[in-house]
Amino acid sequence: MAATGLRMGVVGGSIAGCAMAVAGLRAGADVTVYERSAGALQDRGLGIVIPPALHGRLVATGYLDAAMPTAPVAARVWLTRAPDGSAREFARQPSPVTPCNWGLLWQALRTASAGARHHRGRPVTAVVRTASGGALVRAPQGEATYDIIVGADGHESLTRRVLAPGLRPSPAGYAVWRGTLPLSATADHRRPLELLREAWVTVGFPGGHGIFYLIPRGGGGPDDRLLAYAIYATPPGRSRGEAGYVRQLAEEYFPQEWAEIVARGEHTAMTCHPVADLHAPVAADPPFLLAGDAAGVTRPHTASGAVKALQDALCLEEALRASASAAEALRRYAHERTPEGARLVDLGRRLGRAQVERTPDWTAMDQGAVDAWCRATLAGASSYLYAGTEAGAD
Ligand SMILES: Cc1cc2nc3c(=O)[nH]c(=O)nc-3n(C[C@H](O)[C@H](O)[C@H](O)COP(=O)(O)OP(=O)(O)OC[C@H]3O[C@@H](n4cnc5c(N)ncnc54)[C@H](O)[C@@H]3O)c2cc1C
Repeated sequence: MAATGLRMGVVGGSIAGCAMAVAGLRAGADVTVYERSAGALQDRGLGIVIPPALHGRLVATGYLDAAMPTAPVAARVWLTRAPDGSAREFARQPSPVTPCNWGLLWQALRTASAGARHHRGRPVTAVVRTASGGALVRAPQGEATYDIIVGADGHESLTRRVLAPGLRPSPAGYAVWRGTLPLSATADHRRPLELLREAWVTVGFPGGHGIFYLIPRGGGGPDDRLLAYAIYATPPGRSRGEAGYVRQLAEEYFPQEWAEIVARGEHTAMTCHPVADLHAPVAADPPFLLAGDAAGVTRPHTASGAVKALQDALCLEEALRASASAAEALRRYAHERTPEGARLVDLGRRLGRAQVERTPDWTAMDQGAVDAWCRATLAGASSYLYAGTEAGAD
């Protein structure tokens, strides 16, 4: 279908919203984006890991500028603390990833979607089906009608409530701490920095694990990096989410050099969230379509939230180009993206069970045990980032 003249309203102007706007523009639609926040979105978020193949495809198709800084590495290294406090590397796997800085990724998508009308500080209060098959967007500043409404309004999506009223997140019962540190925090620790230049690193400890990787800080060359982490654990009692707890964990369980970096390093950012997931039973029902976290949230072990949003956009563009009508395009989209969301939620739960709820005895793990354990957890794939059928594939 030539989507020329198709009116597309997008609720939410973050990663998913800007990516969907690019998709609509590329297919020929007239796109309007409503973003509730009037502030600077590029300050949100920390590290985002995307598959190299997806990154290449997004650059080739013009969603991302090739100049957007990334910090690619090709391997995954597994560490735990040895009895003398040093780091014991117990496994290494090929696992190519392209770490990005959330803010730079958003900025690149925002630039690529400049052809859309972007309204900032414009909270949508309702989306309503119209008798003609379109939909109405209501905001304090007024109303407008569209042929397609894209709900890219995040995990508490108002648009999703139309498609799946009453859907609630399922809490995992543990939390994730995300942080970034300047490379100066590693100044006295050469080995961790050397490792991070070639691999993303998992540090296993009783009751959880931490993921560490370098991300670009922005602007500068290959040394302009931040150390990003996500640490998963269940804090004791009711103190779920305390920022100080991660420092305590690091001191108690991390290899000494890593503990010193995380527990004593001056952070540039740190947040903590309870982990939860949810999945909309249908990703689109004309004229509504859900993208990114609005369509579903997986446990972050899958590193797939932004990835899924980007794939959602590629899928919408293809569906618009290949369909005879907007309704047909949305049905194609639902057919492809609904099962993918369900698969990722299931994968996130399996990973959470294996790496947080029932952690192995990390001190007893070796290369063979890690490989076997990964295969069992991942139903045959050797590494979830992003093997086989996953995000890297077209
Ligand atoms: C620990 C952790 C690690 C992660 N690591 C990765 C990773 O490595 N790789 C990866 O791909 N993903 C990762 N993610 C997930 C990723 O950050 C999110 O999935 C992604 O940013 C979601 O983008 P979104 O646009 O769907 O939602 P959001 O970024 O939440 O944006 C929703 C937008 O909608 C706006 N909005 C909401 N309601 C309204 C309204 N009524 N009117 C107008 N605007 C509205 C909001 O202001 C917001 O800007 C991680 C997440 C966590 C927690």
